[in-house]
Amino acid sequence: MALIVHKYGGTSVGSVDRIEKVAHRLEKWHRAGHQLVVVVSAMSGETNRLISLAKEVQQNPDARELDVVASTGEQVTVGLLAMALLERGLKAKSYTGPQVHVLTDSAFNKARILNIDEKKIRADLASGTIVVVAGFQGVDEHGNITTLGRGGSDTSAVALAAALKADECLIYTDVDGVYTTDPRIVPEAQRLHRITFEEMLEMASLGSKVLQLRSVEFAGKYKVPLRVLSSMTDADTPLEEEAASGTLITFEEDIKMEKAVISGVAFERDEAKITLTHVPDRPGIAYQILGPIADANIDVDMIIQNISVDGTTDFSFTVHRNEYEKAIGVLESKVKDHIGAKQIVGDPKIAKVSIVGIGMRSHVGIASLMFRTLAEEGINMQMISTSEIKISVVVEDKYMELAVRALHKAFGLEQVAA
Ligand code: ADP
Ligand code: ASP
Ligand code: MG
Repeated sequence: MALIVHKYGGTSVGSVDRIEKVAHRLEKWHRAGHQLVVVVSAMSGETNRLISLAKEVQQNPDARELDVVASTGEQVTVGLLAMALLERGLKAKSYTGPQVHVLTDSAFNKARILNIDEKKIRADLASGTIVVVAGFQGVDEHGNITTLGRGGSDTSAVALAAALKADECLIYTDVDGVYTTDPRIVPEAQRLHRITFEEMLEMASLGSKVLQLRSVEFAGKYKVPLRVLSSMTDADTPLEEEAASGTLITFEEDIKMEKAVISGVAFERDEAKITLTHVPDRPGIAYQILGPIADANIDVDMIIQNISVDGTTDFSFTVHRNEYEKAIGVLESKVKDHIGAKQIVGDPKIAKVSIVGIGMRSHVGIASLMFRTLAEEGINMQMISTSEIKISVVVEDKYMELAVRALHKAFGLEQVAA
């Protein structure tokens, strides 16, 4: 008998019919003798609907109240799934995040999980109950409802698996694993049988939304065995076959070393670039620019400072497009005149495209192949950043898909079978 956490995303619980299929699948796992904790998302499209309702009432919704509204989608699906399990004669109980004390910090809309009190869940499991927990949500120390950022149910699932020391965390979704790139953009993308934890971390942080970044961070920190697999297969698929399907996020690096140098191409559409021109080139200037941005809780991604000409330089950085206006506002009010910069120039229409692979550590010429490929397509690179296992470039957003396709092909990812 194992303790297993399952997570089902929005499409997987997108209708009553699908919820019944999930219950059918869970029954199979339960009958095989496993203890099950199930995390679910809201029905697909529901969180978007709730957020737009909030925006109809308040253009810039109050962050606390937005979480009160946005978290409700998951409450519907946990209840429905528990009912579907009860209908099958199984013992089941649903909980919201606050009910099982998913304690988070108070950063509304992007809260971090601090602790989970797993006692109640363990007691239920001991009595043979399937425990169904609402993803995406928690409660802060003051009793406020919080949400974990878009895609946050993945993180709920992995955090529960860590707290319960589960044997495995299975992320069921609408694709059958992690692909070399988003199969919606490149139909030739290939499923990876395994991907190293480090690569998955980069892929998620660079925009592959198949797993929320924080869920991968959690899995790494607490060594949670993690697998991404399809919820669209026949629910009666033999359990052993299902348990070995999809993509395993592995901690063993050596397995695929001799395979493709690059494991995947990731992209992020919703980026924006901001440049401060004629910034005095002196110690502390980056801090004076980015300090107020951080204080406003805006995440900065890439940063570039040019060499100085006549003691001044241009300073550029990227932020999520949602935070573009806010970042410009902070620079206008707290930075520009204060440091003596000349102008704030913004471009909200950029995208980031990245290649990821641990094979980069032992191969040369990866960057030049990437740059040549983009040049051949006539795509200009506005910013470049690298780490040991990734290279990212910023391009005009209209070229993003072209760049992804060209790189996927150039690095031979259509033939990959890891
Ligand atoms: P869920 O609702 O199950 O959480 P998501 O929509 O959040 O599902 O994530 C699954 C989607 O992620 C897929 O449908 C796919 O379009 C997208 N995706 C992006 N990058 C990748 C990738 N490298 N591999 C697989 N899927 C990806
Ligand atoms: N329902 C939330 C969202 O749409 C959380 C999730 O799906 O993981 O972002
Ligand atoms: Mg998701």
